[in-house]
Amino acid sequence: MSSPKLFNPGPVDVSPETFAAMSHTMIGHRGKDFEELYASLQPGLKEIFGTERPVFLSTSSAWGVMEGALRNLVKEKVLCLCCGAFSDKWLDVAKKCGYEAEAIQVEWGEAIDPEEVRKKLSEGGFDTVTLIHSETSTGVLNDLAGVAKVVKSFPDTMLIVDTVSSLSTVDVDMDANGVDVMLAGVQKALALPPGLALFAVSEAAMERSKTIPNRGYYFDFLEFAKNDAANNTPTTPCISLLFGLQFMLGQIAKEGFSARKARHARTNAMIADWAEKHGFQNFAPEGYRSLALSCFATPEDFDQATFIKELKSRYNFLINGGYGKIKGKTFRISNMGNETEDSMQELIDAMDIILEEMKG
Ligand SMILES: *Cc1c(COP(=O)(O)O)cnc(C)c1O
Repeated sequence: MSSPKLFNPGPVDVSPETFAAMSHTMIGHRGKDFEELYASLQPGLKEIFGTERPVFLSTSSAWGVMEGALRNLVKEKVLCLCCGAFSDKWLDVAKKCGYEAEAIQVEWGEAIDPEEVRKKLSEGGFDTVTLIHSETSTGVLNDLAGVAKVVKSFPDTMLIVDTVSSLSTVDVDMDANGVDVMLAGVQKALALPPGLALFAVSEAAMERSKTIPNRGYYFDFLEFAKNDAANNTPTTPCISLLFGLQFMLGQIAKEGFSARKARHARTNAMIADWAEKHGFQNFAPEGYRSLALSCFATPEDFDQATFIKELKSRYNFLINGGYGKIKGKTFRISNMGNETEDSMQELIDAMDIILEEMKG
């Protein structure tokens, strides 16, 4: 049987047209062809980031930039806003980098409360804050504008935001929100193969970076900025993926960013309606739900493993049985990337048939 269709929240399905674009003949990265490729990506990236700042291209997974941003910005002490597997791990990463790090830890499935951030920052000593916008492990979409407003009210405190599973599905508005580093990987909402991360850095964060002595080389913001001025990257980039990204940004332009966001809202609502019909409770609170994926609590009497197995073996559809400490206690369905009402309906029809049979 061929590989399953992925409704797993990342990596998601990559279209044949994207793969075709990626099979462009190879070009050298220190030449005019590459500079043109690099420059061609900027307008589309700036639109989805909501920024006038250049968007840097990192040949790494998102974690590279998540760690790199800490290494460029943290002076002494970082506050990590933790509400799920990815945000919790960011705290570990900060500690592994040798920083003093503290957390605001909420229960998985809850969102970060900006007022708690205000209280914690008021204790003093924090120079950097990390936030995950769409916590992919729980389906929670945090109040980015609310948290950013609080962080901005503390002078010289940098805000790093991960938009791995929200970028291009909803507005992230980097500049309007005053975010200092906004980053994403491409294998989730942008429906590309993994291996490329995107990030933009505020002017204030560039200035901070200049004052940080041991920020390393591979993710050095100053190296990225210097090369960006010549439409280039510090080291040899994943050129094939950049051709894929060029194609994908073209698709986004063709569809229209507003239409793309509206499509995600509609396909996400289809899954929410399906879940409500079957009595599955959303794991994320109302008003704080990602539009890129959905996470549901597994009912006590529900044989989730069989449900997922049957979906895969009979329909070749892959959904996810929970991540980290809520594995088996939740399940997740992605509507990220290229999914349409038609493709989500096929999944819903298959899930309905299996649920009906499981009732016996
Ligand atoms: C998947 C994911 C990551 C990690 O991405 P990698 O590509 O594995 O580094 C980080 N943050 C969020 C929110 C994610 O969903």
